[in-house]
Amino acid sequence: MSSPNAESTAFRSALEVIRAVEPRVADAIGTELADQRESLKLIASENYASPATLLAMGNWFSDKYAEGTVGRRFYAGCQNVDTVEALAAEHARELFGAPHAYVQPHSGIDANLVAFWAILADRVEAPALKKAQARQVNDLTEADWFALRRELGNQRMLGMSLDAGGHLTHGFRPNISGKMFDQRSYGTDPATGLIDYDKVAEAAREFKPLILVAGYSAYPRKVNFRIMREIADSVGATFMVDMAHFAGLVAGKVFTGDFDPVPHAHIVTTTTHKSLRGPRGGMVLCQPELADQVDRGCPMVLGGPLPHVMAAKAVALAEARRPDFADYAQRIVANAQALAEGLLRRGATLVTGGTDNHLAIIDVTSYGLTGRQAEQALLDSGIVTNRNSVPQDPNGAWYTSGIRIGTPALTTRGLGTAEMDQTAELIHTVLSQTGPGANADGTPSKAKYVLDPAVADKVSRQAAELLTGFPLYPMVDLT
Ligand SMILES: *Cc1c(COP(=O)(O)O)cnc(C)c1O
Repeated sequence: MSSPNAESTAFRSALEVIRAVEPRVADAIGTELADQRESLKLIASENYASPATLLAMGNWFSDKYAEGTVGRRFYAGCQNVDTVEALAAEHARELFGAPHAYVQPHSGIDANLVAFWAILADRVEAPALKKAQARQVNDLTEADWFALRRELGNQRMLGMSLDAGGHLTHGFRPNISGKMFDQRSYGTDPATGLIDYDKVAEAAREFKPLILVAGYSAYPRKVNFRIMREIADSVGATFMVDMAHFAGLVAGKVFTGDFDPVPHAHIVTTTTHKSLRGPRGGMVLCQPELADQVDRGCPMVLGGPLPHVMAAKAVALAEARRPDFADYAQRIVANAQALAEGLLRRGATLVTGGTDNHLAIIDVTSYGLTGRQAEQALLDSGIVTNRNSVPQDPNGAWYTSGIRIGTPALTTRGLGTAEMDQTAELIHTVLSQTGPGANADGTPSKAKYVLDPAVADKVSRQAAELLTGFPLYPMVDLT
């Protein structure tokens, strides 16, 4: 059946044009939509961007080099890039109430790198230049330059530990941030699973970090950013918040007051593609005193900006400023809570006992499983999640003991709290009917599992049925 709406026409025509060059790419794009339509997606970091956002990325803006900032480019002919970059920044400032927005970062990791270098430039490099009475680094003597480089590479960062839900880019060794900084982390209270602010304050007093980082990718509760700022101030640290996961909840005014990072942090980083529901990318918001350093992100750590993605950021941020986005953000949290309650009622164990944001962590050890086993068994049953460490995880970072689930994507499709209860039932059915498997030599395996294929099949069909009333991209018909 063909439908005449603009979205269907646009995507169908685009695929036709691609098909004429490399049909396998056109096929893969079409199949990706079909696959996404069929899967019950509970990946907490994923979402579905609007057709307008997607289409804003597929055009000749991709051809432009635009190093520099609006009105101050290293290339000629950037007037249209200036238009979309200025629009995206304006929407970001208005949406979040931020004095300054830098919309060039290509991803969340890139946004963090921009922020780290802006802080280092402000706190370490600028004072060294002043002391040497140099205007810029090229004016330093060899000896002063050598001393400055050593000092830049010898700063401290305090961030949330990985197994408590922190992110690799907050100073962990496998990531560049862990090589740049001497890092120490704060965890959560073993009894409650919650951040213990007294412990954070104590760690800050002992360690005296240059940067205190808050933000997470797997912590199911609100963070009190007012208290965190007080802790940062008490030791002279710059307070940075990475809201990559929950930016949509800030934009939608679910997190306000002490729980809104923007008025409390010196600098805030985010992705644009998670709960914010924009294109794949990153962004930095900051106080005026860091703005100049943040704007040096490209070419400091970023390659040339992606004007087509900045255009899509402007579109998505405009969408997030509409009143219905606040309703969307409320529904994300209501859904996460319904899902969590549904699981708890059926006997599951959740880290911190529930959620007040968009995600929850199931501790699957109570089902006798590792995260890896649970993740695969759920996937066999048509439910897409990801395994995740729990605090003090007995199975380590690879196998893990947790399953992270999140509701931004399903909420975009329109599923509500009743469907979340049904989803909880499906998850509980799979986990309670899955058993740990054994290696060939009979020893217990942390990866293999036993699940009756009939159960997996039945749940897959139920999951697909649950989705039939909530079509993904209903306005897009590729047939
Ligand atoms: C997802 C995430 C990132 C990284 O984002 P990318 O766009 O994948 O680089 C950084 N920080 C946090 C807290 C995240 O959740």
